[in-house]
Amino acid sequence: MELLLRCTRQHKVNTPIGFDVHDFLISAPPAVCPSCGNTIGLEPLVRIMLIVEDNDGPIPGFQGQRYRCASDPTKTFAEPHQEAFTSDPRAVTNPACKQTPEFKKLMAKINMQKLYTQGGFNLNELLAQE
Ligand SMILES: [Zn+2]
Repeated sequence: MELLLRCTRQHKVNTPIGFDVHDFLISAPPAVCPSCGNTIGLEPLVRIMLIVEDNDGPIPGFQGQRYRCASDPTKTFAEPHQEAFTSDPRAVTNPACKQTPEFKKLMAKINMQKLYTQGGFNLNELLAQE
């Protein structure tokens, strides 16, 4: 069983903000952040996975829609208390889902909307989206 942990220290990343927490999976002790070596204050996270509409997907929606997990199309259910599904990319914690083109596309769309609605239009940020 893999456990998803979050290291809440600030890690340098290549984004406009420049730092972020680091989430990582472990399957056996010891729990060590692979990014900074931290061993204390690591927080267990529910593994929230991105689901996207797919007529042939194995995950049923509430009104007849079908979905599939962006990172694991064979996944049929979320393990209670450890996993959950969402269609909102901002809620996703599962590292594999964050690497998918579906996730990146949805986040780019949200970030683009933010740029326009907050009036903070920045051409360089727009170009960096895709
Ligand atoms: Zn760390």
